[in-house]
Amino acid sequence: MDLLLNDLVKSFLTERLKDDSNLNQSLLFWGESDLGKLTTAKLFAKSILCSNNKLGGCNDCENCKAINNNWHPDYLLIDTDNDNIVVDDTSPIFKFFLYKPQLSKKRILIINDCEKLNLTTQSSLLKLLEEPKNDFLIILVSSNPQKLLKTIRSRVIPIRFTKPSKKELISFIESKYQKDIKNLDYLIDLAEGKPAKLINFIENQSSSKLKESNIQIYKNILKSNFVKQSSIIKDIVSNLKEKDELKNLSKKNYLKTLVNDWLSFIENELYVSIKNKEDLKKKQKQFKNALQLLQYIDAYNANYRLLLETFCLTTF
Ligand SMILES: [Zn+2]
Repeated sequence: MDLLLNDLVKSFLTERLKDDSNLNQSLLFWGESDLGKLTTAKLFAKSILCSNNKLGGCNDCENCKAINNNWHPDYLLIDTDNDNIVVDDTSPIFKFFLYKPQLSKKRILIINDCEKLNLTTQSSLLKLLEEPKNDFLIILVSSNPQKLLKTIRSRVIPIRFTKPSKKELISFIESKYQKDIKNLDYLIDLAEGKPAKLINFIENQSSSKLKESNIQIYKNILKSNFVKQSSIIKDIVSNLKEKDELKNLSKKNYLKTLVNDWLSFIENELYVSIKNKEDLKKKQKQFKNALQLLQYIDAYNANYRLLLETFCLTTF
């Protein structure tokens, strides 16, 4: 199985696979972003649908082949880059539950970033969770489970994903790629020790370059006065569409990535401050304000230039 799981998650999932009656209650995979929650959910679904019940799938049976071809009647993945998962009565989510399993013994629905469901849809989903059927399984995936209805959270088995140790990460990467990865130590730090991010950096050089350039922007802001900061911000906002590596990101998502990268940089600086007992208040302020900036970008389609300028004015 192409995954790095902590022992608790691994033994939980393996145990579940041994007996179908263990698979009637829905699951919530939760934890920070980029830890491999969605990949695990997909592979776990495949393990259940696999005719040979192999953890991660056997890739040989009819069910595994259907999933590998992105076509399996008993499997539905809801995953979107948009801010909201738009659902109505005719949506595939609810239609999915009208039919019995076709090819395998269960129908499995995965909803990634399920906190993006609005409250009405969450209530409808709750009804499905309240009356679990033996031949259905719902796997919710979330980095923000606090945005889910409490009643939903109380009806699913929460499975927490955590960051692996550096040692675990290195041995996982060595066995996955079977070759030396250049600058692995540096890339692990750049990926904040998160496996999914690290794999993306290794396989897609432009994403690590993007993070490096985002952090450089922050460093430039740090050493500038407001007039210079304002011109940096003007560049950020007006150049958004010109960058090659941004093709797949909306303006808003790019800004969220940018500020998230700033946050990971500030977080590191904050650890250093705590250790050296220097500049602590300053760094805490930067962290708090950047976190708030991220929430504003996420919540409103506001004037981004104004938001960034306000951040600079109130932070430095
Ligand atoms: Zn199989």
